[in-house]
Order: sequence, then structure tokens, then C-alpha cells
Amino acid sequence: MGQVVLKGINKFYESVHAVKDVNLQIRDKEFVVFVGPSGCGKTTTLRMIAGLEAISSGDISIDGNVINTLAPMDRDIAMVFQNYALYPHMSVYDNMAFGLKMRKFERPEIEKRVREAADILGIGELLKRKPRQLSGGQRQRVALGRAIVRHPRVFLFDEPLSNLDAKLRVQMRVELKKLHLRLGTTAIYVTHDQVEAMTLGDRVVVMKDGVVQQVGEPLELYNQPANKFVAGFIGSPAMNFAAVTVTEAGGSLIAENSGLRIKLPDEIAQRLRGHIGREVILGVRPEDLTVAGSADLDHPCFDAVIEVVEQLGSEILLDMKVGESIMVASVEPTARVRVADKLRVAMRPSRLHVFDAQTEAAI
Ligand code: ATP
Repeated sequence: MGQVVLKGINKFYESVHAVKDVNLQIRDKEFVVFVGPSGCGKTTTLRMIAGLEAISSGDISIDGNVINTLAPMDRDIAMVFQNYALYPHMSVYDNMAFGLKMRKFERPEIEKRVREAADILGIGELLKRKPRQLSGGQRQRVALGRAIVRHPRVFLFDEPLSNLDAKLRVQMRVELKKLHLRLGTTAIYVTHDQVEAMTLGDRVVVMKDGVVQQVGEPLELYNQPANKFVAGFIGSPAMNFAAVTVTEAGGSLIAENSGLRIKLPDEIAQRLRGHIGREVILGVRPEDLTVAGSADLDHPCFDAVIEVVEQLGSEILLDMKVGESIMVASVEPTARVRVADKLRVAMRPSRLHVFDAQTEAAI
């Protein structure tokens, strides 16, 4: 089993309130990713679970047992660090065996577990080498191997892929996912990379300024962000935002600013009845903007001027000037578009988001 529960967790570093009242139930076998910008408190949270950092208040339990004051070694947790933390003078085999030796495992059991982990990770041929004789990706596998041999209840990962080049990072990401499917061990993973979070996590915890902003499955965060921060953080290129004033004309609700005037679709208009005369923030993802054709005539539309065309092969990104602001649209790779073109752009009505201008919470 490996159920981890965080209850009212706080962390103060003197006057810095680094982690604020985090509550979370991580299920057995679940892969949970903590994601957020630098300084949001994700690493501190992970280190408190590992026992490398004391908790200021709250309880952490594993399978029902509170482990707040238990030494890291006694938590039945294995952690993989960003810098791998391998012992440079030891062989790959000894690096992987070290934790088991410390825990006084018998030699045949150690050998069996190291061989098994080496097979899973495809590093059986490297067991005699020293870390300096390995590539970055191989070192990362050894660090994983050292965690796997422990057969822990929970794996903790602290940005384990961030020292790898972009291509290897993608490859190792897939391997980590397969590894988790194969071993089924609960995993808690920290990253600042939202793509890693979305692809690896069964659930993703988005943090900002020490506060959990939203917990959900990847698509839930993408489609129903709880606030403007999550909406802008998850997804690349990021969601477009426009501050607009809500007005009423002829029974319909209109959202407008200096460069935009659209009739709001009914479903959103209903939610905004209480906001007439006030400012709200409209959000729309780049892929939910299209160059308006005759089929889109009843969709909310606005005028834009193309400033930059980025041809990515699978799509074209258009940086467009809309009034005083810039919006990004992702359009078909075959679209005929040039810098300085004037466009009529349509929004997919069902994909519009609105946020409160003050609290930034989704409306
Ligand atoms: P990064 O991605 O940069 O590692 P993070 O989201 O993991 O960031 P933490 O490392 O958890 O963030 O830091 C959260 C907050 O706590 C930050 O404001 C940081 O400056 C502060 N902090 C972290 N460690 C300490 C420490 N040992 N002493 C004082 N403040 C600290």
C-alpha cells in the first residue's frame, strides 16, 4: 500500500510562509505531480513528505500512520533527486546496492534486487562502471534503480529530468510512465514544467505562493481551470486573456474593450447576469480561435492584424494585435496568412472562459 495524506500542512522559514495549509489525499498507486513556478513551495512540500524538512504544523500520514517525526530512513519512501546524488567513487552496482546494505539486507537478496532493477531499466551492462563513465540519461537510470531496489511504498521525484537535454527528457518521461505502470508504486513528482505534469500525472496539484490553486486530472485543469492562474499556467501557448466590460444590449450580453466587442454566448451570459456594468476577464485558448469563415458567422468574432507568423509544421501560431492587446491563435498549417493581414477571428463559443477581475476565480 502507499496512501499518503497531507492534513493542514504549513511550513515557515522564519518569516517566510512557504507552504500554506495544504490538504491532499494521494491514493495508493496514484501518480501525483506538484507543479508551479519557482518558489511556489512544491519542493518544500516534497521534502516534508521525505522527512528532509520539518513540518511547522499539520500531519503527514502514510497508510494511516502519522510520520511527522519519523526519520527519512524509516519512512519506507525512496527519493530521486534532480542531481541524481550518486556516489562518484562507487560502481553503478554499489550505488544501487548501497541503501539495501545500510538496511542490512542479505547479499543474495541485494544481488537479486539490483539485477532485477538493472533489467527493468536496461542498465545491466553498466553495473561495473563509475558514474563519471555514464551519460546523463544513464546516470538518471542509476538514480531510478537505486530507488526501485528499495521496493518502497512511495517514490518521491524532485525534478528528476531537468538536467537532461530536451530529447532525452521526452524519452525518459515516457519511460517513467511505463515504469509506474509496471511497478504500480505510488509516486509524488515535483516539476515546474506543465507538460511533464500533464503527461505524467494521474492528478496534478497546481501551486502558487505556497497555496494549492487546484487539484485535478490533467484534462480537468485544462478544460475547467479554477482560476486565471491555473488557466494561464496549464497549456502552451498560454491562454489569451482580455479584460472586458459586460454590458447589456437588446437582451443580449456584450463583452467589450477598446479592441473587442462580442456578443456573449447564452451559456456564459447566464453566468454573467450579476456582472453587468463590471469588468471581467475573458479567456480563450489559442486553438479555440479560428480565422472566421462562413460557418462561424454566429460565433463571437473580432478583428485582428497579424504581427508575427510562426510556422511550426503541425500548426501555425499567429501573434495578432487586437486593439491594444496581443492574442495568439493556433491555426491549420495550411492556412494562407501573412504578416500585416487583417483578419476576422472567431472564438469557439463553448470554449470561452471568464474570470472575476478581482479574485481571478473562474465564474
Ligand atoms: P523551485 O522550483 O525554484 O525549487 P519551489 O516551488 O520548489 O521552487 P520551494 O523551494 O519549496 O519552492 O520554496 C518555497 C519558498 O520557501 C520560497 O520562497 C523559498 O525562497 C523559501 N525557502 C525554501 N527553502 C528555504 C530555506 N531553507 N530557508 C528560507 N527560505 C526557504
